[in-house]
Amino acid sequence: MNNEIKLPSYLEQSDAVRSRFDRINQREIILEVRNLCKHFASKHSNVEALRNINFKIHRREFVCVIGPSGCGKSTLVRTLAGLEGHSSGEVLLDDKPVQGPGQDRGMVFQGYSLFPWLTVKRNVMFGPEMNGHARDEAERDALLWLDLVGLGKFANAYPHQLSGGMRQRVAIARALVNQPRILLMDEPFGALDAMTRAKMQTHLLDIWRNIDITVLFITHDLDEAIYLADRILVLKAHPGEVQEIIEVPVPRTRGPVSLTSPEFLATKARLEKLIHPDEAQESEEDEVVKPHMIRFTNVTDNVD
Ligand code: ADP
Ligand code: MG
Repeated sequence: MNNEIKLPSYLEQSDAVRSRFDRINQREIILEVRNLCKHFASKHSNVEALRNINFKIHRREFVCVIGPSGCGKSTLVRTLAGLEGHSSGEVLLDDKPVQGPGQDRGMVFQGYSLFPWLTVKRNVMFGPEMNGHARDEAERDALLWLDLVGLGKFANAYPHQLSGGMRQRVAIARALVNQPRILLMDEPFGALDAMTRAKMQTHLLDIWRNIDITVLFITHDLDEAIYLADRILVLKAHPGEVQEIIEVPVPRTRGPVSLTSPEFLATKARLEKLIHPDEAQESEEDEVVKPHMIRFTNVTDNVD
């Protein structure tokens, strides 16, 4: 008896999903990356981190970038943020070249980047105040965004009094308060436990649905990418190059049941194939320490 379930192709889209992509493609382009290359050159080495990256993101689109560790995801997001220069190519935000950091891009990183000596509210007010907004205006905006991320009641708490998930919500409020055109997120939920992470993903989708924001979200978690994204940009390692851009066929609104839908599983199978093309080709170096070579027990029966 064959128990295997036949998955549809990840390229198959329902009418609803296809018409959603038609609508997305009609929207204006917020971010365009053309032939982007990035080398890290020093006296002793020259690392090619990104090679010939091309993609476009439409307004209110949710794009995930996925790829193995070291493939250049953080370099890409730092370059888009203007924190890092690029070697050649172009990054255009609203058709204008990115030449440095700017308020039109909000950033959320994995590590908690809140100021520990400021209250939650003051953390969110910090950007607007630095940009010359009056204190009462900054305070009003901060409270508005804290409400949106569900932390209105914690405005006067300090970061150390919050859980990891809550701190990342403050980081999101702090990025959104400047009303950026695009939110750049570099593995923002990577340090959270699995349950908090799942809640934060759903919470982020709720926020995204309710405001005019475009998201570029970096992750190395396949499930997270499929759950969140309209499209997934798959990078391959050394140098980071675009392997494929996948239109996720999983319908919205997404929820826990999406994770077991045939479209989800088909997309995951495709990502597995792209990211781990042939497990058998692991280099010999990876095999140096074989678990069976180390034994810390004299008990002879085998737990396997
Ligand atoms: P990822 O975020 O996908 O794990 P990174 O963007 O951090 O990857 O790194 C991509 C490559 O660029 C790696 O080989 C890394 O060692 C190299 N790299 C990153 N930052 C620097 C730097 N400042 N100087 C030299 N090499 C760097
Ligand atoms: Mg990284």
